[in-house]
Amino acid sequence: MNKHIESPILLFDKPLLSVVVPLFNERPMLPLFFERLLPVLAKLSIYWEIVLIDDGSDDGSAQYIRSVMNRTPSIRLIKLSRNFGKEAAMTAGLDHAKGDAAIVLDADLQDPPELIPAMIECWLSGVDVVLMQRRSRAGETLFKRWSAHLFYRLLNRTSRTNIPVDTGDFRLMSRKAIDALLVLKERNRYMKGLFAWIGLPTQVIQYDREPRAAGETKWDYPELIGLALEGLTSFSVSPLRWATVIGLIAASMGGAFGLWIVVKAIMLGDATNGYPSLVAIISFLGGIQLMGVGIVGEYVGKTYMESKQRPAYLTEEVIEGWNGIPQQASRHRTEVRHVKAV
Ligand code: UDP
Ligand code: MG
Repeated sequence: MNKHIESPILLFDKPLLSVVVPLFNERPMLPLFFERLLPVLAKLSIYWEIVLIDDGSDDGSAQYIRSVMNRTPSIRLIKLSRNFGKEAAMTAGLDHAKGDAAIVLDADLQDPPELIPAMIECWLSGVDVVLMQRRSRAGETLFKRWSAHLFYRLLNRTSRTNIPVDTGDFRLMSRKAIDALLVLKERNRYMKGLFAWIGLPTQVIQYDREPRAAGETKWDYPELIGLALEGLTSFSVSPLRWATVIGLIAASMGGAFGLWIVVKAIMLGDATNGYPSLVAIISFLGGIQLMGVGIVGEYVGKTYMESKQRPAYLTEEVIEGWNGIPQQASRHRTEVRHVKAV
């Protein structure tokens, strides 16, 4: 293994693949994960490295990974200073990936590592992005499937960036695509949107998404709703327009209703007995105003967060594997930020 380190002449003979794996408290998953991933990588005809991002795990995931690193080459562990969320962890992984291409893979085996050779084949045939589209979503509740479906449709209707339906973060990106992605410096990183924004020649491969092999999903519904709002507001300003349109409709309805009351009173001599309708109208308008303010607030808040220019993540430590990584990759070397956690 890693013959290329002793023989530098061979350094540029084959491309290097980085497998980027964000993980947060996945200790029960890890043995099985390596058991499935390593044989697949061992059979590849190109070089590979695994970039693991420990997103602030406190269940001993990092210790276990270190023990694997002792006996397996080409693994790099990036420890973030705390839990920053999957989006930031993926960004960290891509920042530290040195490959000519990178595959983002979940640690819970929902993205089968066995598909990696097919993805590489696609990439070598000349595309920059190989997108994995779920044909089925086993082990997910009907409600989750339905809400995901609705969300993607809504997002695509409102944004000019077309985000492919039923795709997750599982994908291969060429160096060109990774560099393009890393140029996007926004702090609110809705990765699926950013991935779609860069464009480039893309090929879609369909696959069956497996249920989680162990442990539990890190997303609960409030977080998913947060991510959905993030996605909608990061990639479109049309909610602001909806607020205007809904306000206009409400105002017209109110005007028409007022007119009707006047006409009724004059024509039919029907005195207004309007208490219930008054309450209905006031609460309707009050609700619409609050919603409008909320939507504007969402954007103002986002502008505020961006204006602080904080980094998307902080690295506590970068631990290189025992035999380093293939030297050929040094031409892509990105600056390794080394910040101690406080
Ligand atoms: N993850 C992470 N940071 C987080 C939450 C999740 O790095 O704050 C990782 C997690 O360990 C897993 C991947 O992101 O490898 C996908 O997470 P999960 O399976 O919980 O999401 P789902 O598959 O349900 O969308
Ligand atoms: Mg999962």
